[in-house]
Amino acid sequence: MSTQQRRAVVVGAGVGGLAAAAALARDGWQVDLLERRPRIQAVGAGLSLWPNALRAIAAVEPTAVDRLRGHNELQDMVGLRRPDGRWLSRVDPSPADTADAFTIPLMVTRPKLYDVLRDLVPGEALHLGRTVTGVDLGPAAAVVRTDDEEFPADLVVAADGIHSRLRTLVDPRTRTRGAGYVTWRALIPPESAPALQSGSETWGRGQRFGCIPLANGGIYWYATLAHADPRYRADGSEDVPGLFADWHDPVPRLLEATPPDRIIRTDIELLWPLPRTFVRDRLVLLGDAAHAMTPDLGQGACQALEDAVELATVVRAAGPGEVPAALPEYDRLRRARTTGLAKQARLLGKIGQLRNPLGARLRDRLISLVPANSASRSLTFPTTWEPTESTGPTGARS
Ligand SMILES: Cc1cc2nc3c(=O)[nH]c(=O)nc-3n(C[C@H](O)[C@H](O)[C@H](O)COP(=O)(O)OP(=O)(O)OC[C@H]3O[C@@H](n4cnc5c(N)ncnc54)[C@H](O)[C@@H]3O)c2cc1C
Repeated sequence: MSTQQRRAVVVGAGVGGLAAAAALARDGWQVDLLERRPRIQAVGAGLSLWPNALRAIAAVEPTAVDRLRGHNELQDMVGLRRPDGRWLSRVDPSPADTADAFTIPLMVTRPKLYDVLRDLVPGEALHLGRTVTGVDLGPAAAVVRTDDEEFPADLVVAADGIHSRLRTLVDPRTRTRGAGYVTWRALIPPESAPALQSGSETWGRGQRFGCIPLANGGIYWYATLAHADPRYRADGSEDVPGLFADWHDPVPRLLEATPPDRIIRTDIELLWPLPRTFVRDRLVLLGDAAHAMTPDLGQGACQALEDAVELATVVRAAGPGEVPAALPEYDRLRRARTTGLAKQARLLGKIGQLRNPLGARLRDRLISLVPANSASRSLTFPTTWEPTESTGPTGARS
């Protein structure tokens, strides 16, 4: 590798961009992280970080996971219920007897995750209020343009989210589309949270509700409704407590305990078709810009974290001129995995959102017949991921 300083420009300071900037800076890259907002803003409430995401964060900085762990831990989440309260399936998520330090998912608040990742990015790397307007891919380097400045780069990371402007440079064919349902989510702070014994997700017909107790005594809840339901309002005027008024305890109580201005409403979108490639020359797609998926597996941000670690690994030994030759390996490592998970999430979402009474009854019957440990295995399958070992300039594994 040449001794010349390598320059990376990362576009977007969400989970993916922050993690990529941190991982590249740790490897000695000079990093510029350009974010259009005037401050780092964690949009959303809670986030499940599965063991694969925890391994990715630990690969960048092991102590960062301890900071998240100190925040809260999800011990009691995976159970599926019917609106009348009957359990369809219950899984014990307590740690298996294994040497692996990462066996249980963590439920974190988004601001906490952003704080932890931001602390791993060198202060001088972060440029807020800078909207990227384009990228020129020159033969020797790229140039990333904002309204009033240009940033030369050996590597450009497009971590600019589901509506990525830079994605068209990589695959103009990719589109966003609606998943056919709306979500609401909120955090109830400890002081106003009702007591909650265990977390669960409840599947009705075209609607779902999930709630997870946080270790700080607060609660994270989320709810969905199919667009096809006549009570859906495109203008956001649905009566959310009314939609779940006859559901089992504690659903109505949680909705009542949440001031309406604390509820975040999102019409779910996904990328479809997914990009045919994640790389072009020195430009790579990362996170939702590459593979925005429905939240049904709780893996979108987890995959962005995996992307960041694998990207840093594939370019670790590359000199500035060698970056375009190194990047196809990132495409190989990331595209098949994330495409598979995006398909799985979409399918799970369709099953969870079934509206047809017969279809929903059949679904519930089948779920109650599946042994809990098989259900648990299929849920945790994506979480067994481990970071790829880096290959040195000689091809030796480090
Ligand atoms: C309801 C819901 C629940 C979810 N739950 C989970 C969960 O439990 N677990 C999980 O892992 N995932 C979950 N996800 C998915 C997760 O939120 C996303 O996958 C993740 O936040 C994507 O991060 P990102 O960094 O790729 O993109 P984003 O978070 O969208 O960040 C993109 C950033 O780029 C900036 N930007 C955009 N354009 C420009 C530009 N031109 N110039 C400069 N900056 C720009 C934006 O301002 C933004 O800060 C959920 C999603 C939803 C909708």
